[in-house]
Amino acid sequence: MDLVTKLATEHILKEDEFKTLLLTEKVAERNKLFSYAQQVAIFNFNKQIYIRGLIEFTNHCQKDCFYCGLRCSNKYVSRYRLTKEQILTCCKRGYNLGFRTFVLQGGEDHYFTDDVMCDIISAIKMYFPDCAITLSIGERTRRSYQRLYDAGADRYLLRHETADSLHYSRLHPPSYKLSTRLDCLRDLKEIGFQVGAGFMVGAPYEVPEYLVGDFLYLKELEPAMIGIGPFIPQQDTPFRHQEPGSLEMTLRCIAILRLMFPRALIPATTALATLHPNGRVHGILSGANVIMPNLTPEDERDKYTLYDGKTTASGEAVSSLRLVNSQLRNIGYEMVVDRGDYTPELPEE
Ligand code: SAM
Ligand code: SF4
Repeated sequence: MDLVTKLATEHILKEDEFKTLLLTEKVAERNKLFSYAQQVAIFNFNKQIYIRGLIEFTNHCQKDCFYCGLRCSNKYVSRYRLTKEQILTCCKRGYNLGFRTFVLQGGEDHYFTDDVMCDIISAIKMYFPDCAITLSIGERTRRSYQRLYDAGADRYLLRHETADSLHYSRLHPPSYKLSTRLDCLRDLKEIGFQVGAGFMVGAPYEVPEYLVGDFLYLKELEPAMIGIGPFIPQQDTPFRHQEPGSLEMTLRCIAILRLMFPRALIPATTALATLHPNGRVHGILSGANVIMPNLTPEDERDKYTLYDGKTTASGEAVSSLRLVNSQLRNIGYEMVVDRGDYTPELPEE
């Protein structure tokens, strides 16, 4: 059996087989990977793309990840925090545009204690009870995650970044441990969140074996969501001179993950759109099924500078929604107004 068929039927490969597929130079094999991934996504989701309203509510961060423009050592960022009222205004705007999931993302910001976060979550749930809340606010204690869950948060995105501890140590200051990150992911899952993990493709010092390690880690975790996108350098970080990740490799990873996890929610990320003007469409055609347009107020959005070129790619909510909509229609896909929860099996008709 060829590798693509094997992956599509067994949802797993041996380490050397993953590596062969990832690096294949056989055009027929490569094309089969993309075509199978696309078919699996269509079989499971009917050419329907879920939309999530991204609210980047704080760019303060106590962490110092070497790759990220929000790192605390970066003195060139103008820092901001949205108030609860501003966040609710973003949600209202998003709701009227058809969003039924709000993704609250930010740096690790001490200001947003459990009390403050729980108050925001409860308010969103009170005004928009038919919407899901996804949090992406980094590492916290299990107790804290439990409180956020009890307040009504449904999902949590915490990219593991790399499943190799040596690689992890080259992307972060010495005191940050991969094991802490993985413990957080385990806690989140045990508490009951729909959990998302993921990694950057083409991060500095990456080798193909690390990507294979990421696939195997994700297989163990069985996440509901998988966020991957290319690494893109940011001019005020230690990685400013590093090469960005490649479009082709990112798409291959998306396709492989779609065959491993037929029902997972996999976004075509803003980083993909930053790398290539048609990046989101390529992502969808490689098996992605989620898009996260940005609902952050424009003035603040310009300051959420994770990597260079991000603002232009994320665009203004209404126009970016129109653009994405027309890009999707051109390839026969459509956006749906739906919470788009993870269901491990195909829902009943
Ligand atoms: N602070 C939270 C955390 O780290 O989990 C959430 C926000 S953080 C900005 C979200 C993700 O952005 C990170 O997990 C990382 O993978 C991605 N990111 C940061 N810098 C990046 C870069 N230079 N290129 C591509 N992605 C990047
Ligand atoms: Fe902070 Fe997240 Fe950026 Fe790390 S990746 S510096 S935790 S915002």
